[in-house]
Amino acid sequence: MRKKIVAGNWKMNKTIDEGVRLVEESFEELKGVSDSESIVIFCPSFIALGKISSLTHGRKNIFTAAQNCYSEPSGAFTGEVSATMIKSAGADYVILGHSERRQFFEETNQMLARKTDVALAAGLTPIFCVGELLAIREAYQQEQLVERQISEGLFHLKEYNFQKVVIAYEPVWAIGTGKVASDEQAQEMHAFIRKIIAQKYSKHVAAETSILYGGSCKPSNAAGLFSQADVDGGLIGGASLSATDFAAIINSL
Ligand code: PEP
Repeated sequence: MRKKIVAGNWKMNKTIDEGVRLVEESFEELKGVSDSESIVIFCPSFIALGKISSLTHGRKNIFTAAQNCYSEPSGAFTGEVSATMIKSAGADYVILGHSERRQFFEETNQMLARKTDVALAAGLTPIFCVGELLAIREAYQQEQLVERQISEGLFHLKEYNFQKVVIAYEPVWAIGTGKVASDEQAQEMHAFIRKIIAQKYSKHVAAETSILYGGSCKPSNAAGLFSQADVDGGLIGGASLSATDFAAIINSL
């Protein structure tokens, strides 16, 4: 079901104690959110996942996500973490295909299709990231690229499984750079993503899919982005490391 969501991706930041402090400060800042239907997700490192999940557990509309999972359900894959392990740590969501995973760990659309399958089988909701590099946007190829990422990564899913997925559009040129997509650029791509979902599944499925924007989203620009018709919230990197900024972004929904 389409929901308003703000997820904070801590990336490789925060020790367990620092993460606990950040979540406790965020709860203080977010006192009104327990009454709202908006969803808030904290995405710490694997190391902090169990601890942070124990803090979010039982709080209405507040959840925990992992930042990645392995593409096989179990086995001899030293150093990897399975979707089932993530679920057992108390998380309900998992970020898949973040541009840093695609760029630095060579994750392909095919690998991400497998990760999506194991995540769904374990009962996790994938937050599936797509988005173009600057060179692709300069060549006006962003729609083709994003269509390929979504069709190869997600369109093998049966409708009932696709409906469990959240999509995050994150133009790579806007991630951690301070260069945010304009409200119009974000809306244009989100509407495009909804269009291709409607073509593959149905208008109803497209209308019910949550599509988040990510890329230098801050308290100063969140309200403009979130007011766009097809923007259902945000995946937030840097600004989620400050409880005050994260809460201000959530309050912009
Ligand atoms: C991200 O990493 O998903 C992200 C959107 O980062 P930032 O907000 O720092 O650009």
